Amino acid sequence: MDLLRASGRVLAEPIFADRDFPPFPRAARDGYAVRALDVTQVPARLEVIGELRAGDWPEPERCSVGRGQAVSIMTGAALPAGADAVVMVEYTTVAGKSIEIQRSVKSGENFVPRGAEARQGQMLVDRGTPLDHPAIAVAASVGANTLPVFRKPRVAVLSTGDEVVEIGETPGPSQIRNSNTYSLAAQIEHAGAEAVRLPIAPDEPTRLRLLVEQGLSCDLLVLTGGVSMGKYDLVEQVLAELQAEFYFTGAKIQPGRPVVFGSCSADTPARVSAADPQSARTGVSGPHRKYFFGLPGNPVSTMVTFKLFVQPMIAALAGMRPQPLIFLKARLKSEIRTKTGLKRFLPAVLSGEFENAEVELAAWQGSGDIAALARANCYVVIPPDREQIAAGEWVSLLTA
Ligand code: AMP
Ligand code: MG
Repeated sequence: MDLLRASGRVLAEPIFADRDFPPFPRAARDGYAVRALDVTQVPARLEVIGELRAGDWPEPERCSVGRGQAVSIMTGAALPAGADAVVMVEYTTVAGKSIEIQRSVKSGENFVPRGAEARQGQMLVDRGTPLDHPAIAVAASVGANTLPVFRKPRVAVLSTGDEVVEIGETPGPSQIRNSNTYSLAAQIEHAGAEAVRLPIAPDEPTRLRLLVEQGLSCDLLVLTGGVSMGKYDLVEQVLAELQAEFYFTGAKIQPGRPVVFGSCSADTPARVSAADPQSARTGVSGPHRKYFFGLPGNPVSTMVTFKLFVQPMIAALAGMRPQPLIFLKARLKSEIRTKTGLKRFLPAVLSGEFENAEVELAAWQGSGDIAALARANCYVVIPPDREQIAAGEWVSLLTA
């Protein structure tokens, strides 16, 4: 894939150094290439025998630094033979054809030795790395016009609920618009996958099952709604009918407690149970499984559980090496009181800069309050054993 289009994708083959990096000892400052021994006593006067700009090549016969000599050198130019340090121009004064040096340098100072960053043939970026801008820079530096990348996983999104209507429709007095399919699609695309939006499933098993089967034709199925304990929460029931194996059916978190994770056989369940009822019954794990998540329907729960559970799964399906979720720390602006027992992820606003970053909970009405989440920019993570956290304490944040 073209280098720039590959940005954001996952690298499928390692990138190797095509030569030493840097390919020559590279001056890191504008100044004078010298022999460090000549400037142990300062001020020192050296004869200037030439000039090297970035891109010039220091032919040894023309441009070698002998005792008592210096070469004017610019950042990015190759260090001439004989020199073992660069004195910054700020510490020098021109005196005719000579230069007066006011500061000593140690051997090795102000230049990068050949091959110090990488040796020819060394791996620079490993397979499975998401191609961010530094990785793109590395690819460009070895002359890669194109890069091999993994295919994006296709992730089906299935929202459930009799009360949920498509966003183009006018909702009745008891109906709500389907925001989850769209927030999920946005999160899925952001996580490096392609979102496949399915029609809304009603709280009715036959149609729900049909749409679930459709979703299982993708690499991953993400359902929202219908995983709580209500009479019409049918998602787990329908998945169980499809011989699903459940890895967990709840997490000690808030929001997001009823989150479900499992897999079904990759073959259509009807065929598996006919051909091999044993493996269908025991739910044998193996490479031919299709994974699914059942996320709670409350929009904030959906977004938090996506971040915690679905995003790492998409990363794995996309070929990425395991990437930790990023947690930051900031000082709490005002006291928090909560109930103990669950790990909590509360929408919050991080503000201030550098060492003065502060965080404060966003005012919100619970896990349905998307507008509050839209005003927030992170979640404060509260350990399950804390019922009070004082202002000024350091708290963990999960980026939104
Ligand atoms: P459920 O998990 O099905 O019990 O739904 C929990 C809450 O989330 C209910 O208030 C639903 O109306 C709401 N909800 C469910 N699905 C969606 C959706 N697709 N978009 C927005 N809100 C939803
Ligand atoms: Mg529902």
